[in-house]
Amino acid sequence: MDCGIKIQFLGGGEEVGRLSMVLETGDLRLLFEYGMLPGKPPSYPLPPPPVDLVLLTHAHLDHSGMIPWLFSRTDQKILTTQLTGEISDLLHKDTIKIAKSEGYATPYSTSDIKEAKQSLMPIEPSQRKRIGNDFKLIAHDAGHIPGSLMFEIVGDKKILFTGDFNIKDTRIVKATKPVDCDILFLEGTYAGRDHPKKREEMEKELLDKIDEVVKRGGVAVLPAFAVSRSQELAMVLRKSGFNIWFDGMGKKVTKIFLRHQRYLQSAENLKKAFNKMNLVHSDQGRKLAIKSEVIITSSGMMDGGPVLSYMRKLKNDPKSAVLLTGYQVEDSNARLLVDKGQLDFYGVREKIECEVQYFDFSAHAGHSELIEFAKACTPEKIVLMHSDNREALAEPLKDVAEIYTPNTGETVEL
Ligand SMILES: [Zn+2]
Repeated sequence: MDCGIKIQFLGGGEEVGRLSMVLETGDLRLLFEYGMLPGKPPSYPLPPPPVDLVLLTHAHLDHSGMIPWLFSRTDQKILTTQLTGEISDLLHKDTIKIAKSEGYATPYSTSDIKEAKQSLMPIEPSQRKRIGNDFKLIAHDAGHIPGSLMFEIVGDKKILFTGDFNIKDTRIVKATKPVDCDILFLEGTYAGRDHPKKREEMEKELLDKIDEVVKRGGVAVLPAFAVSRSQELAMVLRKSGFNIWFDGMGKKVTKIFLRHQRYLQSAENLKKAFNKMNLVHSDQGRKLAIKSEVIITSSGMMDGGPVLSYMRKLKNDPKSAVLLTGYQVEDSNARLLVDKGQLDFYGVREKIECEVQYFDFSAHAGHSELIEFAKACTPEKIVLMHSDNREALAEPLKDVAEIYTPNTGETVEL
């Protein structure tokens, strides 16, 4: 049998966003991810050829965002965890809402979203599945967010597609481990950048900073991704004793997480943490939150969500602080805040007098960890993807394996 492997990135090879890749081997054609780059306007991957199966590693929009669009053309089967399916569904509905409020064309309809949800074939970490005539698929925990997977495809060669992954435990999920393989598709979000400190140190610094802000009479605003980061912060703050308010889509996501406890590091701790939060359900709640001590709210990139309504009220208060814990994509509001001390309030830029600080709470492996992981997988070939700095990984890994850095649209034989 011909075991040649042909791949093409439809997006996201050379950037962090809109990841999608077609892989063809033997009689099998797979689509890995179908993401979008949420921006103004959002950008999308190239259209895919017909495929046998769609594999989705996790719910973040840069991996899952355009999945429903596939259903506007043809039926598909999507292999992912039940949890990823549910969270993606929530994010897809939100994508339509955002497109409408920003005045962009909606990329798909609510019936496409429904079809995507119904076409889910759930798989669990460690589960094996026969695919095509000659291949076996093994799902591995990715340690990135609850429900996230890496995919191993075993035929004549062993292939590993990492998606986003982390090799350090966090409060919300357990770390992943390297998987022995021949061909490694490696994400590189943090290529060229190491996480400077241990998680525990970062947590302590964040708590100390909040303490300082509260003591001087300010409010600490923690803009956080609704999926995983909001919940992690709630767990970090669980025993702090602060008056904390929790707002945005993270509330719904937490409820979904708690229905799928097997994907969590400790469902018990998440439950306890969530019970300590005051939940914002109305404008009345927002009025109370703004007078409290800590607000955890979406969106993490500060491009929308309740965080902007809080910032509108707090923007002239130097006693208050915006404490960022997530990755700030180029051109996002959070990046504008870090670089220029300004925020864009739906088209109007304003100066922010609050203190701004970034704490590295990444859910991705850092530069050295990516290298450590790649080496331990002992591959012959490594395809670098999902990175705007692949050169930083290509150099140290060139003695480990043959390195490929294909661009979007380029077909490569492996
Ligand atoms: Zn991710």
